[in-house]
Amino acid sequence: MKGFTTAIEGNFVDQQPNEKILLEQFESLTNSGTWEYNLDTDTTQWSDGVFRMLGYEPQEFEVNFDTAVAIIHEDDRDEAIFHMQEVISQNREYNIKKRLIKKDGEIIWVDSKGKLISEEKSGQKKLIGVFQNITEYVQTKEKLKTVKKKNKSLIENLDGIFWEADAQTFEFKYISPQVEKITGFTPKEWIKTKNFWQMHIHPADRQDSIQTCHDETQNLNDHVFDYRFLTKDGRVIWLNDRVKVISRKGKPYKLQGLMVEITKEKQISQALKDEINLNQSLIQKLPSVFFLFNTEGKLLLWNHQLEKESEYSSDEITKMSPESFFAGEDHLTIKYHIKKVIDEGATDLELEILSKTGKKTPFFFSVSRFFYQDEICIFGTGQNISELVESRKSTAQHIERYQIVTQATSDAIWDYDRKKNSLYWGEGFLSLFGYNPSKIEPSFEFQLSLIHPDDRNRIFRLIQLYIDPKSTKKNWLEEYRFLKSDGTYAIVLDKAIFIRDDSGNVTRVVGAMQDISRQKDFERSLKDLNQQLEKNVRDLAISNLELQQFAFVASHDLQEPLRMISSFMGLLERRYKSVLDEKALEYIEFATNGAKQMQKVILDLLELSRVGKVEEKKESLDLAVLINEIKMYLRKPIHSKNALITYENLPVICTHKTPLLQIFQNLIGNGLKYSKPDVPPQITIRSKDIGPYWEFTVEDNGIGIDPEYFNKIFVVFQRLHGRKDFDGTGIGLSIVKKAVEFLEGEITVKSQVGVGTEFTFTIKK
Ligand code: ADP
Repeated sequence: MKGFTTAIEGNFVDQQPNEKILLEQFESLTNSGTWEYNLDTDTTQWSDGVFRMLGYEPQEFEVNFDTAVAIIHEDDRDEAIFHMQEVISQNREYNIKKRLIKKDGEIIWVDSKGKLISEEKSGQKKLIGVFQNITEYVQTKEKLKTVKKKNKSLIENLDGIFWEADAQTFEFKYISPQVEKITGFTPKEWIKTKNFWQMHIHPADRQDSIQTCHDETQNLNDHVFDYRFLTKDGRVIWLNDRVKVISRKGKPYKLQGLMVEITKEKQISQALKDEINLNQSLIQKLPSVFFLFNTEGKLLLWNHQLEKESEYSSDEITKMSPESFFAGEDHLTIKYHIKKVIDEGATDLELEILSKTGKKTPFFFSVSRFFYQDEICIFGTGQNISELVESRKSTAQHIERYQIVTQATSDAIWDYDRKKNSLYWGEGFLSLFGYNPSKIEPSFEFQLSLIHPDDRNRIFRLIQLYIDPKSTKKNWLEEYRFLKSDGTYAIVLDKAIFIRDDSGNVTRVVGAMQDISRQKDFERSLKDLNQQLEKNVRDLAISNLELQQFAFVASHDLQEPLRMISSFMGLLERRYKSVLDEKALEYIEFATNGAKQMQKVILDLLELSRVGKVEEKKESLDLAVLINEIKMYLRKPIHSKNALITYENLPVICTHKTPLLQIFQNLIGNGLKYSKPDVPPQITIRSKDIGPYWEFTVEDNGIGIDPEYFNKIFVVFQRLHGRKDFDGTGIGLSIVKKAVEFLEGEITVKSQVGVGTEFTFTIKK
């Protein structure tokens, strides 16, 4: 200390180099610095220690009275200046603690001590002093102060019970008066009664508590334990007992303790525990994914479900961020929703969890903002919606299909949702009835109002039957008239399905209306046609009957007078030949021929009317035999015309004989009759098997027929020649046609005038 005193007493500026070094070492060791204020020159000087203390390099801070004052903390500045003035005016010792501001703004505490000196040589007055940095000391003192304060308040507020007991017998020797406030028992009661403490411990904790205390005491261990205690008024309170074991000669001698009531804390911590347990078990039992993470993206809580769905282990999840459970393209979405939750408090979203093995599962997340352990956190649950997504997809497909069907069908589709009382109309309502479903909003009432008034009651009654919950009627098919937008009525066939819920209530009716007006028109005209046909058939039957009656009359009643005419003409000719002139005889011949012709016509007509009427069974017929039979009947013209009739491979067939005989006899007969003059007729008969039919051809080399008359020749009485050229009645081919039709075949003709004719007909086998 002597060196220092020397230094400050000597000329500070002119000190010896070795002294300067010594001072510097001293200053750095003691964290101090020296200062000097010359009152006469009003100059100030600092040692390096002061600059160091304040964080300045000596050259960067210009020291003078003002700057030296400026670095004093403003709260201490006035006092420092005042003290200095006092020191100077009263020549006292300078001694003050003040705060200085360092270059970096930090505040330091300094203990500044100094004194006023007069230089011998110059006689100038100087104030010389030392700064000692006492910041650490002040801070420590400050801290100590607050700790002491805290301890004091702690002790003051502590509701503890101090006690002393015998370490062997556990008899209480002393207990502080607070015991009454806490337990209701006075210290007197407590000390006087034997085993008082033990008796008032809650039975559930008694044995454990006594045992613990005993064991620890024997082992000379200080110990702390909690137990429930029964108060005087019957309440149960929790006590925390801190016991100090005092030993003597290695044996427990005395126990000193402090009991504190901790009932509230116990209740709170129990409630907290319960809540945490409850939450944990709830979280774990949730069928959905649960998670909680903080704003830094650290997952703090989650349940097994998350581990299961993501396929990550608990350890892995600890290191994962919320985004890492999703595909890269979803990360922006997640960021957006996290921000939304923080800003607005809640959000929800649908996203697919991407599992560790790359499996994607759709989830619906419901996320909220939450304060957990004093920070903003985000917690949420995620519901697996795979099934929902699937059903949505198939619903979409169904809807799509339904729309395609309603568009594709020409029917008017309607779909009535009875619960919502809403009706959907398909495009068919526009194309069929002229109502544009996109322009009008149909209702079920409107649809019903369009039913024709005459049909409405019937339909209403039926609907009532169908919508009865007791009814099981499902499939509806009704026909009624439906008003079109143009004011006319369409006849509709309405097919519908009534859909019921579990209790049988009809919830929905889906239907399709078909416009059957045209069909109905057809039906009506078909009916008309049928009626006409029936009438024609009736007329035909009548005419057939009349024809038959006529034939009967002709054969019996007309034949007879004709025969009479012929025979009386013959008689007239024979008996009066001698008296009659040539002319008269010629007239008689005309009359006889006429009668004969008429007879022929009548016989032919009779034959025509009888075609197919003869009740005759089918029989096996050798066609060759049949033709030969015909040749026999026709032997006269065959002979006279020198005709050649040939046939090839004629079959044996099973059919009715008379019609077949009529066909061949007439066709061969015509072939002989309509031959070219001087050309012997050649008639060829061929046959062909054409599956279900036999086909026959009769070909001649006669005069031929102009194709113009092909149809005419089959009509009754139609002839192409006069009787002068060719004898006949015009009935032959009519009989042929009728006989072919009776045998369920057809007849056609091919011919060339001057070449020949070929008739082809079929008969059913
Ligand atoms: P008909 O022979 O008694 O006059 P058909 O009904 O048998 O009556 O014949 C109708 C008409 O068809 C005949 O008048 C004749 O002009 C014509 N015709 C029929 N068969 C032949 C044939 N083979 N060759 C040419 N003309 C024929």
